[in-house]
Amino acid sequence: MPIRPENRRRYPADWPEISLSIRTGRAGGQCECLGECGRGTHHGRCPNRNARPAYGTGSTVVLTVAHLDHTPEHCDPANLRAMCQGCHLHYDQDHHRQTAAATRRAALEQAGQQPLFVEPVPAVCEPEWQPRRRRPVVDVPGPDHWPAAAAALLTPLATKETDGA
Ligand SMILES: [Zn+2]
Ligand SMILES: [Zn+2]
Repeated sequence: MPIRPENRRRYPADWPEISLSIRTGRAGGQCECLGECGRGTHHGRCPNRNARPAYGTGSTVVLTVAHLDHTPEHCDPANLRAMCQGCHLHYDQDHHRQTAAATRRAALEQAGQQPLFVEPVPAVCEPEWQPRRRRPVVDVPGPDHWPAAAAALLTPLATKETDGA
């Protein structure tokens, strides 16, 4: 996964050396994912090797290094995993989904609203996770109440602040 421009400063200066040593030294050129990616298409260690065809798709594997806690500053080897792009993308998508859900909940609470519903957060290593089938039955307001809730969400925060002042 390419380093996002806004995160580039957060990587240590010797990140290229750290990354190379993990990929070629510890990992021996093979994806180190043991299922952390959550995509559930490989059992045990992912068989993908750098510059070889990926299983399933046949596209060329590019080995990358993932931060298990998604924190670029934490470059302890225990926090790093060499991952093929398929595993890395999936691992980060899980994280982005959870972050986005948390951001939405925080915005609702900041606006003085109760969360309308809480999305289930999948365990990272649970390959069978299906977002729709496993959604628990919760007490969601009926469609008649949605317009009011949506309007509250759309109210600019600035307006709320000036109202309170
Ligand atoms: Zn992999
Ligand atoms: Zn994987």
